Amino acid sequence: MNIILLGPPGAGKGTQARRLVDERGMIQLSTGDMLRAARTSGTEMGKIVADVMDRGDLVTDEIVIGLIAEQLKGDNGGGFIFDGFPRTLAQADALDSLMAKVGKTLDCVVEMQVDDDELVSRITARSTCGNCGEGYNDLSKPIPADEKCTNCGSSDFKRRADDNEESLKTRLLAYYKQTSPLIGYYYAKGDLRSVNGLGEIDDVAASISGVLEI
Ligand code: AMP
Repeated sequence: MNIILLGPPGAGKGTQARRLVDERGMIQLSTGDMLRAARTSGTEMGKIVADVMDRGDLVTDEIVIGLIAEQLKGDNGGGFIFDGFPRTLAQADALDSLMAKVGKTLDCVVEMQVDDDELVSRITARSTCGNCGEGYNDLSKPIPADEKCTNCGSSDFKRRADDNEESLKTRLLAYYKQTSPLIGYYYAKGDLRSVNGLGEIDDVAASISGVLEI
């Protein structure tokens, strides 16, 4: 099963994608993670996208479509989870063609609904383990007192450079202007399933499992 997790920044797409990877052997394709990796490794493309990402704007369709195209060539295990892609209608069209080219289909688009106030408080409080990617939140899941990741024991915690109120404003604007039209697009295609993204991680995971049993 190949699915898209669609929702604003901070909706919990990455957290839920990791659960699906662990529980169903799916493969997470996060364009945000790919772009951050390109920045860390200092590639030409990483340098080009750095400012755009820190501001909270979208990088070009061409760049992200290229990143996804590379990944679709391989085995898709228990299915692909597109996390943070597509973010524009042009990306959605490109995904359709790329999937058709490799003989795969998109089964379901899961929209994660979270209100804006909650997004702001989640994002400004979140951090991740730099080693394994486990997510933490100052309010709901603080870093343990011994400062060791509960998953892997590492003490290397990171906050994202774009997780600040200024960038977040731009990211939310980009979401509503460029990405939210995809909700109507996938609804019209009959692929959209919406879940409440508020509440405990386990409860949201259960809602997602519910809509995936199609
Ligand atoms: P994310 O980790 O998904 O929140 O993405 C972090 C940043 O990477 C975004 O704010 C954009 O600057 C960039 N980005 C990630 N995915 C895309 C995409 N599909 N299209 C354009 N820009 C993207």
